[in-house]
Amino acid sequence: MRLYNTKSRLVEEFVPYEEGKVKMYTCGPTVYHFAHIGNLRSYICEDVLVKTMRYAGYDVKRVMNITDVGHLTSDADTGEDKMLKGAKREHKTVLEIADYYTDAFFKDFAKLNIGMPDVIEPATHCIPEFINMIEVLLEKGYAYQAGENVYFDTSKLENYYVLSNSNVNENDLMVGVRDDVDEDTNKRNRSDFVLWFTKSKFDDQELKWHSPWGYGYPGWHIECSCIGIKHLGEHMDIHCGGVDNIFPHHTNEIAQSEAFLGHPWCKYWFHVHHLVDKNGKMSKSSGEFLTVSVLQEKGYDPLAYRFFCLQSHYRKPLEFSYEVLKSMTGTYEKLIKRISQLSKEGEVQQDKFDEYRQKFTEAITDDVNTSMAFTVLYDVLKADMNDATKRALVDSFDEVLSLDLIKRADALSEDAGEDVDEETEKYVTEKIEERKAAKKAKDFAKADAIRDELAARGIILEDTREGVKWHKA
Ligand code: AMP
Ligand code: ZN
Repeated sequence: MRLYNTKSRLVEEFVPYEEGKVKMYTCGPTVYHFAHIGNLRSYICEDVLVKTMRYAGYDVKRVMNITDVGHLTSDADTGEDKMLKGAKREHKTVLEIADYYTDAFFKDFAKLNIGMPDVIEPATHCIPEFINMIEVLLEKGYAYQAGENVYFDTSKLENYYVLSNSNVNENDLMVGVRDDVDEDTNKRNRSDFVLWFTKSKFDDQELKWHSPWGYGYPGWHIECSCIGIKHLGEHMDIHCGGVDNIFPHHTNEIAQSEAFLGHPWCKYWFHVHHLVDKNGKMSKSSGEFLTVSVLQEKGYDPLAYRFFCLQSHYRKPLEFSYEVLKSMTGTYEKLIKRISQLSKEGEVQQDKFDEYRQKFTEAITDDVNTSMAFTVLYDVLKADMNDATKRALVDSFDEVLSLDLIKRADALSEDAGEDVDEETEKYVTEKIEERKAAKKAKDFAKADAIRDELAARGIILEDTREGVKWHKA
């Protein structure tokens, strides 16, 4: 497996800490609103990554958090807790909206055939673990109390900007040196971040817990470090998220985790580029965004959206428009139709199966090259092999693509079968035989006339290697 690593900025050969095993962490949603189709692009790409690794034989354990506390409206630790904002908007409690939107999030997963992570952990379930990690960071001198909050001291690290490689002048990190710093002046350095909020500006913050530093709640970044270490141990192979998570979220996760553990933590950083529309990045906070339910209301199939996402590489921004989705829906349906015409008869040709499975694996394990993987799929449909082998390969590739290709194709041929009454069936079969005889007698004009006669009645003939097939137009 070859994978681009944000940390090295290179496509690297993937070598996990433990042979054959992959420990993977995914930043979960902040459940104050529905996930938009941009968030879901990230989760679709991460799903393909997990399935690719399993297809290649790795034993993968995947952990995801649910952010139900601590994510403020500004990444600079200022503003309001997003959960509280959502609760106010809907006149509900934070826990009510957390439950509601977590449930909605996983319903979208089901619609998009995204596999469930092996472990799902809401941040509010791990408060004692967060407190323990912060205590260790304080003991080791990586954290300090100021005002009434606890902060991580980024100046204690040799290389804080390990992911973003930002060339920041040390003076710029000092609070007060720059005039335009409008942040919390209790911080020693501008890039320091909150581990535990005690001096809450929001008296109405519903979620508060006792801690050695007083009543309060955790910062956003600590939850992912802690939940990752809790379920995957001291070494993690892959950490995933959208590119907006690189800074400050993942940068801060590395700072805390490595300071806490005293050794390197996560090897590979996998970041999905954004879904954009003509107005730019789709974001929840803007309030104007598209959800899977909206696509469905407009008559689009969620799996056509998944198909659309898989046509481009995860490391490129993807521009959404209804025109493109419509055209992708047509391409997806055409593909299913083509698969539905494959006969189920015959034995799988094992040598061909192995050859093309290998080609598909090579494509998809090359930094999750989904468009190359589709090229292999279309090559299979054109290749010199029997239908049973083609069906078996499509079914196999769909373990990674998860587009219900065989299921949909079978449903389509059943539907087609149901629509056809016995009389039509008899008539078409006779005409096909008649045409065959005409062709044999080299009476091509007659053969063409029969084809046209059928077409006029909405019956399309296709000459395939397995014989003549037909379907309704
Ligand atoms: P959030 O619920 O805001 O914490 O985001 C959930 C995931 O979606 C994170 O991995 C984000 O990086 C990712 N994300 C946010 N906006 C987009 C977007 N427009 N396109 C792709 N991924 C996104
Ligand atoms: Zn996270």
